[in-house]
Amino acid sequence: MSRPDPRAQTATVVRREALSAHLVRIVLDAPGFVSTGVPDEWVALTVPGQYQNRYYTVRALDGTELTLDVVVHERGLVTEWAQTDCVGDVVGISEPKGSFLLPPSAQWLVLVGDLTALPAIARIASSVSLPVSAYVESSDGAVPGYVEGVTWVDPPSPGESGLAALVRSLSWPEGPGYFWMAGESAQMRDIRKHVRHDLGMASTSYDVMGYWSGSRGRQARAVDPRPIYEAGKAAGKSDEQIWDDYDRARHE
Ligand SMILES: Cc1cc2nc3c(=O)[nH]c(=O)nc-3n(C[C@H](O)[C@H](O)[C@H](O)COP(=O)(O)OP(=O)(O)OC[C@H]3O[C@@H](n4cnc5c(N)ncnc54)[C@H](O)[C@@H]3O)c2cc1C
Repeated sequence: MSRPDPRAQTATVVRREALSAHLVRIVLDAPGFVSTGVPDEWVALTVPGQYQNRYYTVRALDGTELTLDVVVHERGLVTEWAQTDCVGDVVGISEPKGSFLLPPSAQWLVLVGDLTALPAIARIASSVSLPVSAYVESSDGAVPGYVEGVTWVDPPSPGESGLAALVRSLSWPEGPGYFWMAGESAQMRDIRKHVRHDLGMASTSYDVMGYWSGSRGRQARAVDPRPIYEAGKAAGKSDEQIWDDYDRARHE
């Protein structure tokens, strides 16, 4: 269970828009909210009547308008709230935190994720001037007008992710580059092993993050990534080690 963040602020829902069958845009009025500028930055969102929070990527910040794009799946705390007429609701949001860190030597970027990673993939892709290959697994097909240049991939079946198999089949560009990936935790654990052991990538060349845990197998706990991220950074850990710690904490 995640505790409320004392640094959280409140924000008010000003718009709600369905972007596709499973993706809902929530626009918040969040005066005083300051972006880190890191393109995969996230906030902890606390919806009305709840004390637990869930993590969402800052899709955009325009003046005081903060946009979050929420995947609505079978059932869940934010999933259910996001499907209601929530305009006017007051929510809690934490300070943002991000982990994307492109090495200066990178000559290419590979981005992979499911719909939960789409907001970060779109922001990352628009923040770099390198050649980008991006793959997004979506049960809704392409999300119209969301991002250019992405390869949309169907999941193996509804509610399942096949991203690990996709990454294992990729041909990687030559030379130094950077690989960023997020999605279902078991898929991410598989790929961390693959890039480390099979491809021999340096830990500074990739960031692979478990954003949610499939309902098959043991239920993961909601754990705030912020203190784990901060403690890991303070201890000089790589992002890879920090996201391993985060996965472990969720399955303790
Ligand atoms: C750093 C970070 C950034 C993130 N950014 C985004 C984002 O921008 N947009 C976004 O939609 N999500 C994002 N996520 C993922 C999101 O926090 C989780 O999917 C979260 O569990 C959703 O909360 P919920 O209340 O809807 O479901 P919960 O109450 O947490 O879970 C209920 C059940 O649904 C399952 N479940 C959770 N998520 C999914 C899913 N996506 N598909 C299928 N089953 C699921 C759980 O295993 C559980 O069994 C991010 C996660 C992290 C760590």
